[in-house]
Amino acid sequence: MYDDNNIFAKILRKEIPCTLVHEDDVSLFFYDIRPQSKIHVLGIPKIKCIDFSDFINSADSKTVSLFFESVEFVLDKLKIKEKGYRLVSNSGIDGGQEVPHFHIHILAGEKIGKIN
Ligand code: 5GP
Repeated sequence: MYDDNNIFAKILRKEIPCTLVHEDDVSLFFYDIRPQSKIHVLGIPKIKCIDFSDFINSADSKTVSLFFESVEFVLDKLKIKEKGYRLVSNSGIDGGQEVPHFHIHILAGEKIGKIN
């Protein structure tokens, strides 16, 4: 069950601030408060969804498509496509998810360590 009090729900309601990268009708992109690389941006859809599977199963295909097109737009905006980047989405306890609103981490700006 979706928790309306999770931190990203509060960011979406503008109850707490964020450093905005991009906003459109379906998505919001902002800098991570505890960056794990020189560039660390989080992308979230505006609909209430807990993780990747919840997003894919509950959003209509147009929304899913627009969200991932926004990810691509932000990759361009950050000018990281030439040198590269990593996209990560954690889910659940084993995935190490801290905030239960689906999000994509965009990590870039330096060589990102290997996943072991
Ligand atoms: P997760 O572990 O759920 O995949 O990632 C959650 C991310 O949200 C973490 O990287 C964490 O630093 C970030 N985060 C947690 N609280 C806030 C906040 O209040 N503002 C911002 N901008 N990022 C946050």
